[in-house]
Amino acid sequence: MLFDTHVHLNANQFDEDLEEVINRALEADVKQMVVVGFDRPTITKAMELVEKYDFLYASVGWHPVDAIDMKDEDLEWIEELAAHPKVVAIGEMGLDYHWDKSPKDVQKEVFRRQVRLARKVNLPIIIHNREATEDVVEILKEEKVEEVGGIMHCFSGSLETAKQCIDMNMHISFGGPVTFKNAKKPKEVAAEIPIDRLLIETDCPYLAPHPNRGKRNEPSYVTLVAEQIAELRGISYQELTEKTTENAQKLFGINR
Ligand SMILES: [Zn+2]
Repeated sequence: MLFDTHVHLNANQFDEDLEEVINRALEADVKQMVVVGFDRPTITKAMELVEKYDFLYASVGWHPVDAIDMKDEDLEWIEELAAHPKVVAIGEMGLDYHWDKSPKDVQKEVFRRQVRLARKVNLPIIIHNREATEDVVEILKEEKVEEVGGIMHCFSGSLETAKQCIDMNMHISFGGPVTFKNAKKPKEVAAEIPIDRLLIETDCPYLAPHPNRGKRNEPSYVTLVAEQIAELRGISYQELTEKTTENAQKLFGINR
């Protein structure tokens, strides 16, 4: 079976046909998924979904792009939700310097507060990083992320950055971009990192893998990510999917 570690089945792109999308995932052997919420509406929807479906789990956090909107009550609410048995991680959180809605200092503070919260509730974190690698790594180090570990989601950095993150007890997760023809760096990193630190994801509805690039992404397409990485590493699809599923279950404390 496959474990998709990052889905947004809570996005309105799935309002019309969620049942069919889920059925296609199960038919493709994608049997566990983490639904990621990053603001009030998406966290609320993620919690509804995990109540309804056994095989869905939730991660709850606050997105860096909207850091400016996060109030103390929001963080308190995330802390309350963290006690729910199906909440398996805090995030996505991190830094996003591509968009300038939230100033960098506000993003950093909101990020630090969430890492501290994750350590307090003892859950791994899920990191969103866009054009901010140096600051992300520095904050992870300063905030002692190694105590809880977590995931560098949709990783696109260098092998050197991947190693720095792994040294801090992080996992490296790859999505659709690893299948793109010109994705030299992600392909290199996916081939080289220790297999016990490797995870797969879709980040659906965004970033659909080749040959579905540009279409709405969905969890069944994580099979394409798995095929690509198995090929890059020269191992069987079965070995890759077994190992990445085991890694995800262990990190999230599922089925142990
Ligand atoms: Zn995401």
